Amino acid sequence: MSTGKKESKTPLKAAAKRSTPPLDQGPEQDAIGAMLTQALLSRGAAVPIDNTAPDANIAPVGEQRCGLIAIVGKPNVGKSTLLNALVGQKISITSRKAQTTRHRITGMRTLAATQFVFVDTPGFQTRHGNALNRSLNRTVVGAVNDVDLIVFVVEAGQFNQADARVLSLLPEKIPAILLANKFDLIHRRAEIAPWLKEMQERHNFAEFVPMSANNARDVERLFGICEKYLPMQPWMYGAEELTDRSDRFMAAEIIREKLFRLTGDELPYTSTVLIDQYEEEGNLRKIAATIVVERDGHKGMIIGEKGEKLKRIGTEARHELEALTGGKVFLEIWVKVRSGWADDEARVKTFGYE
Ligand code: GDP
Ligand code: MG
Repeated sequence: MSTGKKESKTPLKAAAKRSTPPLDQGPEQDAIGAMLTQALLSRGAAVPIDNTAPDANIAPVGEQRCGLIAIVGKPNVGKSTLLNALVGQKISITSRKAQTTRHRITGMRTLAATQFVFVDTPGFQTRHGNALNRSLNRTVVGAVNDVDLIVFVVEAGQFNQADARVLSLLPEKIPAILLANKFDLIHRRAEIAPWLKEMQERHNFAEFVPMSANNARDVERLFGICEKYLPMQPWMYGAEELTDRSDRFMAAEIIREKLFRLTGDELPYTSTVLIDQYEEEGNLRKIAATIVVERDGHKGMIIGEKGEKLKRIGTEARHELEALTGGKVFLEIWVKVRSGWADDEARVKTFGYE
């Protein structure tokens, strides 16, 4: 798979060396975590990361640790939020709309001698059997068979058929961590114990991690938990690299995020964004993009009254692209109707899906 390759196109680099807060936990979370873990699972001690050394990012090759971690789960459980938090920068778009992530996104973070290579996957699609969803599902299956560790993300206290479909894809031979996300939404924590016992019967999870992807301390703790599953081997990427995706790809993703965020639920998730032009002239980027929708009615929703909606999508995307690239961005967006493309396998391929 592509994540095993050393080269990358125009990787985003960490703007500055980031410092990592200590790995300690709040007393309350610590107690509940310890209680649940002790009662139900046997687990090894997490290895804390010492990144206090000034030359933390240049560990000798012989001491380097590096591995792939797949983040899997049904749509909307918080996988992209988690990946962005782990990487320390937004590289995977998120929204309340399920099915936002369409491509496999790789994000890296190097701490002390260890390089964590995270693979975010689209949620496994169960509702629609069209060509786009069949393609998304192949991406998930491809991602889980070739990694050192699987992080299976669910919403704490919940498990339904969609979760079960994803769980059924996990190979027995690769260690899997059960990550019970959105723990902040659980008010009676004692109720988690019977749920956890059920979860253990469903799969031989190596560990159980109750947490919130939007809590920085939880995220830092996760590095220590994952580290011991990664093999001693040289890093695959530079210490400062954050993603193997190109700037061009990021531009399409950012526009797609604004599109989903600024249009209501009426706009089908099948709408997509193509980059027709991406030119760099010094500090200026000239980008032309096309939003492709299935029906004329959808076109109207995106353009809005007097073009207001499309203007806002463009402005918000441009601001974010300027922040990301550190330069000026000239962005032009078109909307085109191509009916039925989500049901046409050949056309899905020409749009860049695997
Ligand atoms: P994905 O489809 O699995 O990639 O999910 P996203 O990362 O796009 O997140 C779906 C929604 O859940 C977004 O609205 C996130 O803000 C929200 N979310 C993610 N993690 C948490 C969490 O720990 N707690 C709460 N309350 N919301 C979260
Ligand atoms: Mg996602």
